[in-house]
Amino acid sequence: MTASPTPTRLPVAVIGLGPMGQAMVRALLRSDHPVAVWNRTESRAADVVAAGASLAATPDDALRSADVVVLSLTRYGAMYDILGDHTAALAGTTIVNLSSDTPDESRRAAEWAESHGATLLTGGVMVPPPMIGTDDAYLYVSGPREAFDRFSSMLSVIGATRYVGADPGLAQLLYQAHLDVFLTTLSSLLHATALVTSAGMSAADFVPEVLPTLTSTAEMIGGGEALAHSLDTGDHPGDLSTVLMMGATADHIVATSEALGVDSGLPRAVKSHYDRAIAAGYGSANWTSLYEVVKAS
Ligand code: NDP
Repeated sequence: MTASPTPTRLPVAVIGLGPMGQAMVRALLRSDHPVAVWNRTESRAADVVAAGASLAATPDDALRSADVVVLSLTRYGAMYDILGDHTAALAGTTIVNLSSDTPDESRRAAEWAESHGATLLTGGVMVPPPMIGTDDAYLYVSGPREAFDRFSSMLSVIGATRYVGADPGLAQLLYQAHLDVFLTTLSSLLHATALVTSAGMSAADFVPEVLPTLTSTAEMIGGGEALAHSLDTGDHPGDLSTVLMMGATADHIVATSEALGVDSGLPRAVKSHYDRAIAAGYGSANWTSLYEVVKAS
């Protein structure tokens, strides 16, 4: 009995071969997609070419080799730097830009793509490179529904797709919202470690102490349903903790940072939320009432 031939998979071009772009190429190759790659710094293509990708000599060649081009770049400006001189090759192409930028930049890019006869899907990949192609990987995608339907199976090789609508800014907004939590958390971890190591304790001793605070935060705030209810309804009962109590602690973190000579920018920003909530009359409400001053800023 002869083996049935592998079905032909969609040819994909990937432009941008940082850690994320390279991980996407590997996942696509594992799923038997023919992949052409281009990167400003050519040497970064060596590993994925060794793994089976073909190196395009120019961005034009990458565009013409596939119906869809995936961009993995530091920001949207890089897309114009790379494709701005190759707009003739854009007609009929679908660009999936999985780079970070603002929602407005994504909307502007959709208009730019359309003006050159191309379609833009925008996306935000929500996991780091080692998780690309695993069951835990997912990405937000927005843009024209027909284009999403056409390329969703290719994108699902990178991660499970969450299509959030036609507005090209929406996937970016969700990406930025997640990264807002993530980046602030990372900075708070570093700040907390700096406080403790200034007293002579090592990071090796402190990090295992502090990580459980991170992982149990969802439980400590009563779970997502309760939080969402407070935020959606404006109901912030302060029966277990109040803005006055937590604002006092926010003051103490600023004062401790200053006394120890550790950067106080992040705790000052947090303290300002409590100060403004107290000034707005939420002192005896729950911390969730900070939302009322944050969203009004
Ligand atoms: P890198 O910054 O390492 O790589 C970005 C790519 O952009 C490189 O190929 C780089 O080219 C290219 N680039 C940047 N500026 C220009 C320019 N002006 N002209 C041409 N090429 C340019 O980023 P990552 O691979 O880590 O990330 C790519 C995207 O994925 C980012 O938008 C990031 O926010 C997102 N992301 C990253 C995650 C991560 O953990 N790494 C997680 C989730 C999303 P060159 O090699 O020549 O410098």
